[in-house]
Amino acid sequence: MLKGKTAVVTGSTGGIGLGIAQALAAQGAEVMLNGFGDRKEIESLRQGIERLSGAKAAYHEADMSKPAEVAALVLDAERIFGKVDILVNNAGIQFVAPIEDFPADKWDLVLAINLTSSFHSIRAVLPGMRGRNWGRIINIASAHGLVASANKAAYVAAKHGLIGLTKTVALETAATGITCNAICPGWVLTPLVQKQIDALAQHDRMSVEAAKAKLLAEKQPSRDFATPEQIGGIAVFLCSDAAAQIRGSSLSVDGGWTAQ
Ligand code: NAD
Repeated sequence: MLKGKTAVVTGSTGGIGLGIAQALAAQGAEVMLNGFGDRKEIESLRQGIERLSGAKAAYHEADMSKPAEVAALVLDAERIFGKVDILVNNAGIQFVAPIEDFPADKWDLVLAINLTSSFHSIRAVLPGMRGRNWGRIINIASAHGLVASANKAAYVAAKHGLIGLTKTVALETAATGITCNAICPGWVLTPLVQKQIDALAQHDRMSVEAAKAKLLAEKQPSRDFATPEQIGGIAVFLCSDAAAQIRGSSLSVDGGWTAQ
């Protein structure tokens, strides 16, 4: 379905971003990976993506907290692939603390990676997308883009902001072949969430399995995690013709979290 299309997925060396990169590659898209990690492991991920797609895959090391590096990522993708048809803004970090104790530099970093990087990447890809009159911009927000939890001030603010940005870009591109939407996962078992499970297990002196069950029971009525593969499937759907008139939407994949 995506043969001949080119995708940039930020933060795709692990977790949800990797699931999305693999799902897009499985449909034939050329993929630019981005994120941190061991160079050898990243190279083997890149080769795996090439095997999946039967097309070219590349990697760029841009730090999404740095606007100049975000712009360089898009430029490099355009240089290697000739264009960027699909942009998935996925890179994100979490920091948990009550607001009085929230370090100002952590606030700045969470906002820079989880929100501001999407402003920079979107403005970099839009001229090319407008020229071809086709594009898909997918912002990975969160259930925390729709509702809040205590102790996550920066993350909740950034994800609410990302949903606002999604709606604005969708309106500015509404009469074109470019769509912009957000996916709002609930709990997905990735390194980002594993850290929170481990902290809970330590704090409540319980097993990791018991901490997982507690985390799910607090928020996610299905009592089950969503998977990176499922989020990848939603991204593929948003790239399809069936989704051409889905614009400015936030698709919840949260086991019922925000239905409550
Ligand atoms: P993760 O920590 O497992 O993976 C994050 C990826 O981003 C990694 O590839 C990492 O190297 C990369 N990354 C981190 N900082 C970066 C930076 N400064 N520049 C470039 N890359 C960077 O996280 P995840 O759980 O897969 O989360 C991915 C996205 O999904 C995030 O935006 C997160 O907020 C969102 N999300 C996750 C969950 C969940 O339950 N896991 C739920 C809702 C939303």
